[in-house]
Amino acid sequence: MKIYKFGGASVKSAEGVRNLESIVSQADDNLVVVISAMGKMTNALELVANSFFNHRPDLSDNLKAVFDFHDVIINDLFADGRNEVDALVNELYAKLNDILSHKPSLSYDFEYDRIVSFGELLSTTIVAAYLRSRGLNAEWVDIRRCIITDNNYREGNVNMEISESLSRDAFLNNKLSITQGFIAGTATSQTTTLGREGSDYTAAILANLLDAEDVTIWKDVPGVMNADPKLYKDVEIIPVLSYKEAIELSYCGASVIHPKTVKPLQNKQIPLFVRSFINPSEPGSKICRYKQHLSLPPIFIHKKNQVLLSLTPRDFSFIAEERLSKIFGILASYRIKTSLVEMSAISFSLCMDYNDVTFNKMIEELRDEYEVLYNTDVELITIRHYTPEIAQRITENHLIYVEQRNRLTARFVVPVG
Ligand code: ASP
Ligand code: MG
Repeated sequence: MKIYKFGGASVKSAEGVRNLESIVSQADDNLVVVISAMGKMTNALELVANSFFNHRPDLSDNLKAVFDFHDVIINDLFADGRNEVDALVNELYAKLNDILSHKPSLSYDFEYDRIVSFGELLSTTIVAAYLRSRGLNAEWVDIRRCIITDNNYREGNVNMEISESLSRDAFLNNKLSITQGFIAGTATSQTTTLGREGSDYTAAILANLLDAEDVTIWKDVPGVMNADPKLYKDVEIIPVLSYKEAIELSYCGASVIHPKTVKPLQNKQIPLFVRSFINPSEPGSKICRYKQHLSLPPIFIHKKNQVLLSLTPRDFSFIAEERLSKIFGILASYRIKTSLVEMSAISFSLCMDYNDVTFNKMIEELRDEYEVLYNTDVELITIRHYTPEIAQRITENHLIYVEQRNRLTARFVVPVG
Protein backbone atom coordinates (compact mmCIF):
# COMPACT_ATOMS: atom_id res chain seq x y z
CA MET A 1 0.00 0.00 0.00
CA LYS A 2 1.27 3.43 -0.98
CA ILE A 3 -0.15 6.85 -0.25
CA TYR A 4 -0.23 9.66 -2.83
CA LYS A 5 -1.22 13.18 -1.86
CA PHE A 6 -2.31 15.80 -4.38
CA GLY A 7 -2.65 19.42 -3.22
CA GLY A 8 -5.00 22.11 -4.47
CA ALA A 9 -2.58 23.35 -7.14
CA SER A 10 -2.43 19.91 -8.76
CA VAL A 11 -6.22 19.74 -9.24
CA LYS A 12 -7.02 23.37 -9.95
CA SER A 13 -8.23 22.61 -13.50
CA ALA A 14 -9.53 19.78 -15.68
CA GLU A 15 -6.03 19.43 -17.09
CA GLY A 16 -4.73 18.91 -13.54
CA VAL A 17 -7.26 16.14 -12.92
CA ARG A 18 -6.23 14.45 -16.19
CA ASN A 19 -2.62 14.65 -15.12
CA LEU A 20 -3.54 13.07 -11.76
CA GLU A 21 -5.20 10.22 -13.65
CA SER A 22 -2.08 9.63 -15.68
CA ILE A 23 0.10 9.50 -12.53
CA VAL A 24 -2.32 7.30 -10.59
CA SER A 25 -2.88 4.87 -13.44
CA GLN A 26 0.85 4.18 -13.64
CA ALA A 27 1.10 2.97 -10.03
CA ASP A 28 1.37 -0.81 -9.61
CA ASP A 29 0.65 -0.97 -5.90
CA ASN A 30 -2.54 -0.62 -3.94
CA LEU A 31 -3.01 3.10 -3.61
CA VAL A 32 -4.71 5.56 -1.29
CA VAL A 33 -4.99 8.97 -2.96
CA VAL A 34 -5.47 11.91 -0.59
CA ILE A 35 -6.72 15.08 -2.28
CA SER A 36 -7.12 18.72 -1.17
CA ALA A 37 -9.77 21.16 -2.27
CA MET A 38 -9.34 22.29 -5.89
CA GLY A 39 -7.23 25.40 -6.42
CA LYS A 40 -8.07 28.09 -3.90
CA MET A 41 -11.46 26.65 -2.97
CA THR A 42 -10.69 26.50 0.75
CA ASN A 43 -10.18 30.28 0.74
CA ALA A 44 -13.40 30.69 -1.26
CA LEU A 45 -15.31 28.52 1.22
CA GLU A 46 -13.86 30.52 4.13
CA LEU A 47 -15.60 33.54 2.60
CA VAL A 48 -18.83 31.54 2.46
CA ALA A 49 -18.44 30.54 6.12
CA ASN A 50 -17.75 34.14 7.15
CA SER A 51 -20.74 35.56 5.25
CA PHE A 52 -22.99 32.87 6.70
CA PHE A 53 -21.82 33.30 10.28
CA ASN A 54 -22.03 37.09 10.11
CA HIS A 55 -25.37 37.12 8.24
CA ARG A 56 -23.90 39.08 5.35
CA PRO A 57 -25.72 39.57 2.05
CA ASP A 58 -22.69 38.53 -0.06
CA LEU A 59 -23.31 34.91 0.97
CA SER A 60 -25.02 33.96 -2.30
CA ASP A 61 -22.28 35.54 -4.44
CA ASN A 62 -19.58 33.78 -2.47
CA LEU A 63 -21.41 30.49 -2.77
CA LYS A 64 -21.96 30.95 -6.49
CA ALA A 65 -18.21 31.45 -6.99
CA VAL A 66 -17.62 28.00 -5.45
CA PHE A 67 -20.29 26.26 -7.54
CA ASP A 68 -19.18 28.00 -10.76
CA PHE A 69 -15.55 27.04 -10.27
CA HIS A 70 -16.38 23.36 -9.91
CA ASP A 71 -18.91 23.42 -12.73
CA VAL A 72 -16.28 24.62 -15.20
CA ILE A 73 -14.03 21.69 -14.31
CA ILE A 74 -16.90 19.18 -14.40
CA ASN A 75 -18.05 20.44 -17.83
CA ASP A 76 -14.58 20.01 -19.21
CA LEU A 77 -13.96 16.55 -17.70
CA PHE A 78 -17.32 14.98 -18.47
CA ALA A 79 -18.13 16.44 -21.85
CA ASP A 80 -20.30 13.45 -22.58
CA GLY A 81 -22.25 11.40 -20.08
CA ARG A 82 -22.09 13.25 -16.77
CA ASN A 83 -25.06 11.67 -15.02
CA GLU A 84 -23.15 9.97 -12.26
CA VAL A 85 -21.06 13.00 -11.34
CA ASP A 86 -24.03 15.36 -11.59
CA ALA A 87 -26.06 13.33 -9.12
CA LEU A 88 -23.19 13.14 -6.63
CA VAL A 89 -22.19 16.78 -6.89
CA ASN A 90 -25.81 17.98 -6.71
CA GLU A 91 -26.24 15.96 -3.54
CA LEU A 92 -23.26 17.80 -2.01
CA TYR A 93 -24.54 21.18 -3.21
CA ALA A 94 -27.91 20.38 -1.62
CA LYS A 95 -26.28 19.47 1.70
CA LEU A 96 -24.30 22.71 1.72
CA ASN A 97 -27.37 24.73 0.77
CA ASP A 98 -29.28 23.07 3.57
CA ILE A 99 -26.67 24.09 6.17
CA LEU A 100 -26.71 27.64 4.84
CA SER A 101 -30.49 27.89 4.89
CA HIS A 102 -30.60 27.50 8.70
CA LYS A 103 -29.42 29.88 11.39
CA PRO A 104 -25.76 29.42 12.33
CA SER A 105 -24.94 28.03 15.75
CA LEU A 106 -22.95 30.16 18.18
CA SER A 107 -19.65 28.45 17.37
CA TYR A 108 -17.76 29.95 14.45
CA ASP A 109 -15.22 27.13 14.45
CA PHE A 110 -17.95 24.48 14.23
CA GLU A 111 -19.64 26.26 11.33
CA TYR A 112 -16.30 26.84 9.63
CA ASP A 113 -15.41 23.16 9.60
CA ARG A 114 -18.70 21.87 8.33
CA ILE A 115 -18.73 24.44 5.50
CA VAL A 116 -15.07 24.53 4.45
CA SER A 117 -14.96 20.70 4.32
CA PHE A 118 -17.07 20.84 1.13
CA GLY A 119 -13.92 21.80 -0.78
CA GLU A 120 -12.43 18.36 -0.20
CA LEU A 121 -15.77 16.55 -0.48
CA LEU A 122 -16.31 18.09 -3.93
CA SER A 123 -12.76 17.60 -5.22
CA THR A 124 -12.66 13.93 -4.27
CA THR A 125 -16.15 13.27 -5.61
CA ILE A 126 -15.25 14.79 -8.98
CA VAL A 127 -11.87 13.07 -9.21
CA ALA A 128 -13.24 9.65 -8.21
CA ALA A 129 -16.07 9.94 -10.76
CA TYR A 130 -13.58 10.97 -13.42
CA LEU A 131 -11.28 8.03 -12.67
CA ARG A 132 -14.24 5.66 -12.87
CA SER A 133 -15.27 7.20 -16.19
CA ARG A 134 -11.76 6.31 -17.38
CA GLY A 135 -12.22 2.70 -16.36
CA LEU A 136 -10.35 2.75 -13.04
CA ASN A 137 -11.95 1.05 -10.09
CA ALA A 138 -11.80 4.04 -7.73
CA GLU A 139 -13.50 3.81 -4.33
CA TRP A 140 -14.53 7.13 -2.76
CA VAL A 141 -13.92 6.94 1.00
CA ASP A 142 -15.35 9.43 3.49
CA ILE A 143 -12.36 10.17 5.71
CA ARG A 144 -14.65 11.69 8.35
CA ARG A 145 -15.64 8.12 9.28
CA CYS A 146 -12.00 6.99 9.46
CA ILE A 147 -9.88 9.73 11.03
CA ILE A 148 -11.56 10.59 14.32
CA THR A 149 -10.68 13.72 16.27
CA ASP A 150 -11.85 15.43 19.43
CA ASN A 151 -14.17 18.40 18.96
CA ASN A 152 -11.44 21.03 18.86
CA TYR A 153 -12.90 22.46 15.65
CA ARG A 154 -10.43 23.91 13.10
CA GLU A 155 -7.53 22.02 14.68
CA GLY A 156 -8.83 18.61 15.63
CA ASN A 157 -6.59 16.30 17.67
CA VAL A 158 -6.56 12.85 16.12
CA ASN A 159 -7.37 9.79 18.21
CA MET A 160 -5.01 7.28 16.62
CA GLU A 161 -6.40 4.23 18.46
CA ILE A 162 -9.99 4.68 17.31
CA SER A 163 -8.90 5.81 13.84
CA GLU A 164 -6.70 2.79 13.26
CA SER A 165 -9.32 0.06 13.01
CA LEU A 166 -11.78 2.31 11.16
CA SER A 167 -9.14 3.26 8.59
CA ARG A 168 -7.89 -0.27 8.15
CA ASP A 169 -11.44 -1.52 7.54
CA ALA A 170 -12.12 1.24 5.03
CA PHE A 171 -8.90 1.16 3.01
CA LEU A 172 -6.96 -2.06 3.25
CA ASN A 173 -9.12 -4.08 0.87
CA ASN A 174 -9.27 -1.48 -1.91
CA LYS A 175 -6.96 -1.39 -4.89
CA LEU A 176 -7.51 2.34 -5.38
CA SER A 177 -9.11 4.65 -2.79
CA ILE A 178 -9.81 8.35 -3.22
CA THR A 179 -10.21 10.31 -0.02
CA GLN A 180 -10.12 13.80 1.45
CA GLY A 181 -7.17 15.52 3.05
CA PHE A 182 -7.54 18.09 5.82
CA ILE A 183 -10.97 17.04 7.07
CA ALA A 184 -11.92 14.52 9.75
CA GLY A 185 -14.85 13.71 12.03
CA THR A 186 -15.71 13.41 15.69
CA ALA A 187 -16.98 10.28 17.40
CA THR A 188 -20.49 11.76 17.06
CA SER A 189 -20.08 12.34 13.30
CA GLN A 190 -19.49 16.08 13.29
CA THR A 191 -17.06 17.38 10.69
CA THR A 192 -13.72 18.76 11.89
CA THR A 193 -10.55 19.96 10.16
CA LEU A 194 -6.90 19.51 11.01
CA GLY A 195 -5.69 23.10 10.43
CA ARG A 196 -5.01 24.94 7.17
CA GLU A 197 -2.80 23.11 4.69
CA GLY A 198 -3.45 19.93 6.66
CA SER A 199 -3.75 17.47 3.77
CA ASP A 200 -0.11 16.41 4.02
CA TYR A 201 -0.81 15.59 7.63
CA THR A 202 -3.81 13.43 6.62
CA ALA A 203 -1.56 11.48 4.24
CA ALA A 204 0.98 10.94 7.03
CA ILE A 205 -1.65 9.81 9.54
CA LEU A 206 -3.10 7.33 7.05
CA ALA A 207 0.36 6.02 6.21
CA ASN A 208 0.96 5.41 9.90
CA LEU A 209 -2.41 3.74 10.50
CA LEU A 210 -2.24 1.55 7.39
CA ASP A 211 1.48 0.75 7.69
CA ALA A 212 2.02 2.10 4.20
CA GLU A 213 5.22 1.41 2.33
CA ASP A 214 5.76 5.09 1.55
CA VAL A 215 4.06 8.44 0.97
CA THR A 216 4.45 10.69 -2.07
CA ILE A 217 3.43 14.33 -2.00
CA TRP A 218 2.97 15.54 -5.60
CA LYS A 219 3.84 19.23 -5.83
CA ASP A 220 4.35 21.99 -8.36
CA VAL A 221 8.01 22.16 -7.33
CA PRO A 222 10.62 19.52 -8.28
CA GLY A 223 11.28 18.49 -4.66
CA VAL A 224 12.60 20.05 -1.47
CA MET A 225 14.75 22.94 -2.67
CA ASN A 226 17.46 24.74 -0.73
CA ALA A 227 15.72 28.08 -1.43
CA ASP A 228 12.69 29.54 -3.14
CA PRO A 229 13.55 29.86 -6.86
CA LYS A 230 11.43 33.03 -6.95
CA LEU A 231 13.84 34.67 -4.49
CA TYR A 232 17.21 33.05 -5.20
CA LYS A 233 19.30 32.17 -8.23
CA ASP A 234 21.06 28.80 -8.56
CA VAL A 235 18.80 26.85 -6.26
CA GLU A 236 19.22 23.08 -5.97
CA ILE A 237 17.05 20.10 -5.11
CA ILE A 238 18.02 18.30 -1.93
CA PRO A 239 17.79 14.62 -2.92
CA VAL A 240 17.80 13.10 0.59
CA LEU A 241 16.93 14.58 3.98
CA SER A 242 16.60 13.06 7.43
CA TYR A 243 13.27 13.28 9.28
CA LYS A 244 14.93 15.60 11.76
CA GLU A 245 16.10 18.00 9.09
CA ALA A 246 12.64 18.00 7.49
CA ILE A 247 10.98 18.79 10.83
CA GLU A 248 13.39 21.68 11.41
CA LEU A 249 12.82 23.06 7.93
CA SER A 250 9.04 22.93 8.11
CA TYR A 251 9.10 24.52 11.56
CA CYS A 252 11.23 27.38 10.21
CA GLY A 253 8.60 28.02 7.55
CA ALA A 254 9.56 25.85 4.58
CA SER A 255 6.10 25.54 3.07
CA VAL A 256 6.94 22.43 1.05
CA ILE A 257 5.90 20.17 3.95
CA HIS A 258 3.31 20.83 6.62
CA PRO A 259 5.00 20.83 10.06
CA LYS A 260 2.90 18.05 11.57
CA THR A 261 3.52 15.67 8.68
CA VAL A 262 6.86 14.17 9.56
CA LYS A 263 6.20 12.78 13.04
CA PRO A 264 3.61 10.07 12.16
CA LEU A 265 5.97 8.89 9.41
CA GLN A 266 9.08 8.94 11.51
CA ASN A 267 7.34 6.92 14.23
CA LYS A 268 6.97 4.06 11.77
CA GLN A 269 10.01 4.78 9.61
CA ILE A 270 7.89 5.36 6.51
CA PRO A 271 9.74 7.27 3.77
CA LEU A 272 8.25 10.44 2.34
CA PHE A 273 8.85 11.49 -1.26
CA VAL A 274 8.28 15.02 -2.54
CA ARG A 275 7.93 14.93 -6.33
CA SER A 276 6.78 17.12 -9.18
CA PHE A 277 3.38 16.44 -10.75
CA ILE A 278 4.63 18.43 -13.72
CA ASN A 279 7.61 16.12 -14.26
CA PRO A 280 6.50 12.87 -12.63
CA SER A 281 9.42 10.87 -13.94
CA GLU A 282 11.92 12.97 -11.91
CA PRO A 283 12.94 11.42 -8.58
CA GLY A 284 12.40 14.55 -6.41
CA SER A 285 13.40 14.39 -2.75
CA LYS A 286 13.27 11.57 -0.24
CA ILE A 287 12.85 12.11 3.50
CA CYS A 288 13.77 9.10 5.55
CA ARG A 289 15.76 7.80 8.47
CA TYR A 290 19.34 8.87 8.07
CA LYS A 291 21.90 8.35 10.77
CA GLN A 292 25.16 9.33 9.10
CA HIS A 293 26.03 12.93 8.60
CA LEU A 294 24.43 14.24 5.40
CA SER A 295 26.29 17.11 3.91
CA LEU A 296 23.65 19.64 2.99
CA PRO A 297 23.98 22.96 1.19
CA PRO A 298 22.92 26.15 3.00
CA ILE A 299 19.12 26.21 3.06
CA PHE A 300 17.30 29.55 2.99
CA ILE A 301 13.78 29.95 4.32
CA HIS A 302 11.76 33.13 4.34
CA LYS A 303 8.79 32.97 6.66
CA LYS A 304 6.49 35.80 5.70
CA ASN A 305 3.47 37.33 7.37
CA GLN A 306 5.16 37.57 10.75
CA VAL A 307 4.82 40.11 13.52
CA LEU A 308 7.44 41.01 16.09
CA LEU A 309 5.96 41.74 19.48
CA SER A 310 7.77 43.20 22.52
CA LEU A 311 6.23 43.05 25.95
CA THR A 312 7.39 44.97 29.04
CA PRO A 313 5.54 44.51 32.32
CA ARG A 314 3.89 47.79 33.30
CA ASP A 315 5.19 47.47 36.86
CA PHE A 316 8.76 46.84 35.65
CA SER A 317 8.82 43.47 37.37
CA PHE A 318 11.03 40.74 35.96
CA ILE A 319 9.86 38.48 33.20
CA ALA A 320 9.78 35.38 35.37
CA GLU A 321 8.46 31.91 34.66
CA GLU A 322 5.01 32.62 35.97
CA ARG A 323 4.65 35.57 33.62
CA LEU A 324 5.93 33.52 30.71
CA SER A 325 3.42 30.79 31.31
CA LYS A 326 0.61 33.37 31.35
CA ILE A 327 1.85 34.99 28.14
CA PHE A 328 2.01 31.65 26.38
CA GLY A 329 -1.43 30.80 27.76
CA ILE A 330 -2.82 33.89 26.05
CA LEU A 331 -1.01 33.07 22.79
CA ALA A 332 -2.30 29.49 22.89
CA SER A 333 -5.86 30.69 23.45
CA TYR A 334 -5.58 32.63 20.17
CA ARG A 335 -3.88 29.64 18.52
CA ILE A 336 -0.86 31.79 17.72
CA LYS A 337 2.26 29.97 16.53
CA THR A 338 5.49 31.48 17.81
CA SER A 339 8.57 31.15 15.63
CA LEU A 340 11.25 32.78 17.79
CA VAL A 341 11.53 34.23 21.29
CA GLU A 342 14.06 36.45 23.00
CA MET A 343 14.06 37.79 26.53
CA SER A 344 15.89 40.19 28.79
CA ALA A 345 15.26 41.09 32.44
CA ILE A 346 12.20 43.20 31.78
CA SER A 347 11.26 42.65 28.20
CA PHE A 348 10.14 39.72 26.14
CA SER A 349 10.04 39.62 22.34
CA LEU A 350 8.33 37.12 20.12
CA CYS A 351 8.16 36.61 16.40
CA MET A 352 4.90 34.95 15.47
CA ASP A 353 2.41 34.32 12.69
CA TYR A 354 0.20 37.34 12.03
CA ASN A 355 -3.52 36.67 12.14
CA ASP A 356 -5.47 39.72 11.00
CA VAL A 357 -8.72 38.43 12.50
CA THR A 358 -7.59 38.04 16.10
CA PHE A 359 -4.51 40.24 16.36
CA ASN A 360 -6.08 43.40 17.79
CA LYS A 361 -8.08 41.50 20.35
CA MET A 362 -4.99 39.66 21.54
CA ILE A 363 -2.99 42.90 21.83
CA GLU A 364 -5.79 44.41 23.89
CA GLU A 365 -5.66 41.49 26.27
CA LEU A 366 -1.88 41.71 26.63
CA ARG A 367 -2.08 45.47 27.28
CA ASP A 368 -3.81 44.81 30.60
CA GLU A 369 -0.43 43.97 32.06
CA TYR A 370 2.18 44.92 29.49
CA GLU A 371 3.46 47.80 27.50
CA VAL A 372 3.11 46.30 24.02
CA LEU A 373 5.12 47.37 20.99
CA TYR A 374 4.96 45.59 17.68
CA ASN A 375 6.07 45.63 14.08
CA THR A 376 3.87 44.01 11.51
CA ASP A 377 5.25 43.34 8.02
CA VAL A 378 8.30 41.50 9.21
CA GLU A 379 9.74 38.24 7.99
CA LEU A 380 11.86 35.61 9.63
CA ILE A 381 14.82 34.55 7.52
CA THR A 382 16.38 31.25 8.53
CA ILE A 383 19.62 29.91 7.10
CA ARG A 384 20.25 26.28 7.97
CA HIS A 385 23.85 25.10 7.53
CA TYR A 386 25.03 28.67 7.28
CA THR A 387 28.55 30.02 7.13
CA PRO A 388 29.36 33.46 8.56
CA GLU A 389 30.03 34.73 5.01
CA ILE A 390 26.65 33.59 3.75
CA ALA A 391 24.85 35.08 6.73
CA GLN A 392 26.68 38.35 6.13
CA ARG A 393 25.78 38.38 2.44
CA ILE A 394 22.08 37.69 2.97
CA THR A 395 21.60 40.31 5.66
CA GLU A 396 23.89 43.11 4.51
CA ASN A 397 21.11 45.24 3.04
CA HIS A 398 18.61 44.57 5.80
CA LEU A 399 17.80 46.32 8.99
CA ILE A 400 17.89 43.48 11.56
CA TYR A 401 15.47 43.59 14.48
CA VAL A 402 16.52 40.31 16.12
CA GLU A 403 19.30 37.90 15.32
CA GLN A 404 19.94 34.44 16.75
CA ARG A 405 22.61 31.91 15.83
CA ASN A 406 23.54 28.45 16.94
CA ARG A 407 25.90 25.92 15.43
CA LEU A 408 23.61 24.97 12.52
CA THR A 409 21.11 27.74 12.15
CA ALA A 410 21.14 31.53 11.84
CA ARG A 411 17.83 33.41 12.12
CA PHE A 412 17.04 37.04 11.46
CA VAL A 413 13.86 38.99 11.99
CA VAL A 414 13.83 41.77 9.39
CA PRO A 415 11.29 44.17 7.89
CA VAL A 416 9.81 42.90 4.64
CA GLY A 417 12.01 44.52 2.01
N1 ASP B 1 -7.52 22.62 1.36
C1 ASP B 1 -6.91 22.85 2.64
C2 ASP B 1 -6.23 24.21 2.67
O1 ASP B 1 -6.10 24.83 1.62
C3 ASP B 1 -5.95 21.76 3.01
C4 ASP B 1 -4.73 21.65 2.13
O2 ASP B 1 -4.68 22.20 1.04
O3 ASP B 1 -3.79 20.97 2.55
O4 ASP B 1 -5.82 24.63 3.71
MG1 MG C 1 -5.40 23.74 -0.25
